[in-house]
Amino acid sequence: MRSAGEVCPPSRVSPNCYDNAMTDRSPLSLYLHIPFCTLKCSYCDFNSYAGIESLMRPFVDALCDEMRLWAPVVADRRVETAFFGGGTPSLLPVKEVERIVGAMRGAFELAPDAEVSFEANPGTVERDYLRNLLAAGVNRISFGVQSFHDDELAALDRIHSGEEAKEAYHWAREAGFERINLDFIYGLSEQPMERWQTTLEQAIALGPEHLSLYALTIEEGTKLAHDIERGRVPGPDGDVQAAMYEWSCERLAHAGYHQYEISNWCRPGEECRHNLVYWRNGEWLGLGPGAHSHLAGTRNKEQGTGKMGYRFADVHSPRRYIDLVRETVECGVDGAAGGHAGPLLREMRQVAFVEEQTVEMEMADTAILGLRLNEGVDVREFERRFGRSVEEAYGGVLAETESFGLVERKNGHVRLTDRGRLLGNEVFVRLLPP
Ligand code: SF4
Repeated sequence: MRSAGEVCPPSRVSPNCYDNAMTDRSPLSLYLHIPFCTLKCSYCDFNSYAGIESLMRPFVDALCDEMRLWAPVVADRRVETAFFGGGTPSLLPVKEVERIVGAMRGAFELAPDAEVSFEANPGTVERDYLRNLLAAGVNRISFGVQSFHDDELAALDRIHSGEEAKEAYHWAREAGFERINLDFIYGLSEQPMERWQTTLEQAIALGPEHLSLYALTIEEGTKLAHDIERGRVPGPDGDVQAAMYEWSCERLAHAGYHQYEISNWCRPGEECRHNLVYWRNGEWLGLGPGAHSHLAGTRNKEQGTGKMGYRFADVHSPRRYIDLVRETVECGVDGAAGGHAGPLLREMRQVAFVEEQTVEMEMADTAILGLRLNEGVDVREFERRFGRSVEEAYGGVLAETESFGLVERKNGHVRLTDRGRLLGNEVFVRLLPP
């Protein structure tokens, strides 16, 4: 890892790794991190901040500049999906969203059917806002609802009520959104099964195209972790969470939702295309404070040890991000000069972390992320990508986890069993590179 603005020594990032990747026409995704929130939720450890609204304009300037900096490097790629995440993107005034989408269209070739997703907090939207968002080019909206019980929402420090979440959903439908996701958290402290069931039943009754359900996890440094440490509230009960998960899987299947990832369900054909890129270990460019990227490099299948590209991330602090993007622009960094990302990564002041990817790292990521999907890891695609079969790479782990009933092989895929989805970490740790 290197600190923000530090110039990466040439040995760390070889421009040659990039040359080939930039000549194919493989698809690209964009992640845009919007770091603003009205209030920090008790459980949240995302890179988001309350009380920095004054930075909104300079932040959008920086985000647009960062897109322009990358544009020449990925000029022959086509953006198939874009995702506004955060943070709370819906705190951005529509004018700023329009500015970002305009800069995106100016900098990149956006596919005509590109999926443009936008995370929204139900406590921040109005009917007109949603209408204007759709007009600005957003075509999929994801509401962080978490619960329909007001006492649970208050315990999580959410800024909206259950009724307001339903109202926001109906406004989005009226505005014309045809693809809506709702996010929920189950297994809250002392949450009985029936209360979670009531929440999920209400969600099903609304009829969203997509549902994401996450078990509450306690993240270090959050207000909730602090309260649990002090004994003010009990921690979540893993057995209750497992029971809630199993009930949810059955209930959603019965309601016609297809589970396609450990925590995600949808109506047929309504998978989040952007998140599928992550789970298939595809390529994306992350822009904004703390945003991570994954771009491929050359493939050296013969030796099986070639560098496969990079993971890199922007500096976390929104203020530093704004300053450092400005410095990068002022330094005259110009992606058009060479058309290679390698030298550009060294010069991008806002890039705070760069990691070269070995074949072993990429194979492990492809296996672990792919196993999160119900379809699992495509055995032929794995071999095409790495020049090694899944069996050659992970035969021992597969045999062991199959014997535990956690993994199975089916229709040319390796995938988790129902039991494996509950105990996924038991499999994932075995796949990590030594
Ligand atoms: S709204 Fe989302 S990003 Fe913001 S503090 Fe709450 S959970 Fe975190």
